[in-house]
Amino acid sequence: MEEEKNYKVLLIGDSDVGKTSIVKRFLDDTFDEDLLCTIGVEFKMKAVEVDGKSVTLCIWDTAGQEKFRALISSYYRGAHGIILTYDVTKRETFKNLQYWLNEIETFSNRANVVKLLVGNKIDKENREVTREEGLEFAKSKAMFFIECSAKTKIGIQQAFEELAHKIIETP
Ligand code: GDP
Ligand code: MG
Repeated sequence: MEEEKNYKVLLIGDSDVGKTSIVKRFLDDTFDEDLLCTIGVEFKMKAVEVDGKSVTLCIWDTAGQEKFRALISSYYRGAHGIILTYDVTKRETFKNLQYWLNEIETFSNRANVVKLLVGNKIDKENREVTREEGLEFAKSKAMFFIECSAKTKIGIQQAFEELAHKIIETP
């Protein structure tokens, strides 16, 4: 049987936490200080190396519908990996993670979908959520965890590589 090498990865979380910036940093290695509105792409592909093998990630970003909590089930359908994002400088976005976990529970049709919790904007001074809190929450929900900054690049490549790695390991 031909091995599956294309993986659907999507980003969810509150509006403004930096989902589109994370994708842009990963795909184009760019960052916009004033990202006014999310580009309405459906998904973009990028290859990553995992254990010396190349796998392709199809990365899905929203066109801003999360603001209205109006993501539809087809966005989640068939996802192998989900990047659940919050902003470490906005506690509200951390508190809302449970809402997004419930959405995954409702709409994701793969029981073994790999979940990566990402705390973004660690370059900023006014942090409201500690690294330990993020780690604790991730553990309690069987998620992997990483902190990053789309602005300074820290953690971005690692996040996608980790996720790809876990997806491959997951039956
Ligand atoms: P989305 O709504 O979750 O897709 O968030 P965006 O990617 O549109 O980002 C929202 C705002 O946060 C934009 O003004 C970005 O420039 C800013 N932003 C995103 N990531 C970071 C980061 O890592 N550090 C800082 N300082 N700002 C960021
Ligand atoms: Mg966006």
